[in-house]
Amino acid sequence: MTGGAASAAQKPTRDADRDRHRGDDVSDLPETADVVVVGGGIAGVSTAFFLGEAGVRSVVVLERGTIGGGATGRAAGVMTLQAAREPELRFQVESLAVHERLREELGTDLTPVGSLLLWTVEEADAARRRAAMHEAAGVRLEILEPDELRYRFPDLTADDVAVATFSARDPWATPLATVERLADAARARGAIIREGCEVTGLELEGERVRGVAVRDGTIATPTVVNAAGAWARSLAAPAGLRIPVAARKRQVFVLDAAGTDPAAGPFIEEEARDFYCMKRPDGVIMVCGQPPGEAYDTAAEWGYLDDALAPTIRRYPALRHARVTDAWAGVRAVTPDGGPILGTMPAVPGYVMAGGLGAQGFARGPLVGRLVSELITTGRASLDLSAYRPDRFARAGRGR
Ligand SMILES: Cc1cc2nc3c(=O)[nH]c(=O)nc-3n(C[C@H](O)[C@H](O)[C@H](O)COP(=O)(O)OP(=O)(O)OC[C@H]3O[C@@H](n4cnc5c(N)ncnc54)[C@H](O)[C@@H]3O)c2cc1C
Repeated sequence: MTGGAASAAQKPTRDADRDRHRGDDVSDLPETADVVVVGGGIAGVSTAFFLGEAGVRSVVVLERGTIGGGATGRAAGVMTLQAAREPELRFQVESLAVHERLREELGTDLTPVGSLLLWTVEEADAARRRAAMHEAAGVRLEILEPDELRYRFPDLTADDVAVATFSARDPWATPLATVERLADAARARGAIIREGCEVTGLELEGERVRGVAVRDGTIATPTVVNAAGAWARSLAAPAGLRIPVAARKRQVFVLDAAGTDPAAGPFIEEEARDFYCMKRPDGVIMVCGQPPGEAYDTAAEWGYLDDALAPTIRRYPALRHARVTDAWAGVRAVTPDGGPILGTMPAVPGYVMAGGLGAQGFARGPLVGRLVSELITTGRASLDLSAYRPDRFARAGRGR
């Protein structure tokens, strides 16, 4: 395996000059903060960014590894408005609007390519219902019949496809670069971001948050945000808090697409299959494979390569001799109902969840940060978050 151009764009590694933050002296941590955010992924860093925008000056982000080193920097970076239900669609539309704002303000590489969802004969009615739901919500989702699909995407083999739904606005962005830009912007607004700094405990006064413990001391704060991704449960457990988030591993493989025409295409997914791919000029990103049970390791599992290659080559036969240039894995935070966990833990005032972002967490992360910041600064979020309340799970809460 060699690292090609694709890995330069996607792989979760950092430029040498980015490592300047890595060695920051954690002994210069402040003794107090208005808000401490645990986790330097897209959720935590976005929270700090929007808290800064709201005028909260004393914000500290503590990341035990490096910014984006969890799931965020390992994500494929695709975003889609093709939601199955209306509340999800609203969340996705607003998420995309926040990313579009970040492109304008921070210069992220958000690039519209469109997303194509392929449906079989049995699924065709469901596809039409979905398009109708989008139309009712004012979100454009085109229905492409087979002839039009062939005409618009001539390099795609889709003989078995009865109908496709196409959302032209859907983009990708490079996750690591996005979160690093957000981190720089949060710092510019006054946030202190410390890498290599693990939070080891929560300090309480009665039921209320009083601070967090790190290796060599504590930071006093009335508000802690748990943005620890797949590690949210273990972060909360020592304080007796139960957060029903499971760690689920996911694989990414990259193919060298050099010489194929066209060199780029939409994000492609099949309704019935746990797989997607996206043809970019710098490589074909293929995402598949979720080993059963919980896993925290991020080693690529090559046994899944065929699960990624077979459906990709079926759709793009011209890629059958393409070289695999890269592979990696990451760990997503998954909740029992698939929705994020957002808001204050009722049993512990001052303990705010920004977690369980799951499969679309890179897309949703900046909006999650904005909503959590609104909750902290005004007590209300601008979107209805009742479906994502931390106490919606019977077992979530404090104590046994
Ligand atoms: C292979 C793969 C592909 C994906 N593709 C996409 C995609 O195309 N589009 C999309 O929208 N989403 C995608 N996702 C999902 C997305 O990456 C995640 O949902 C999202 O990045 C989660 O962000 P987060 O900030 O919640 O968590 P993370 O990015 O995991 O950040 C949590 C951070 O908390 C830190 N932490 C944990 N415990 C502590 C502690 N005690 N002290 C200090 N720090 C701590 C961790 O080190 C970590 O950096 C993908 C995920 C994977 C794994």
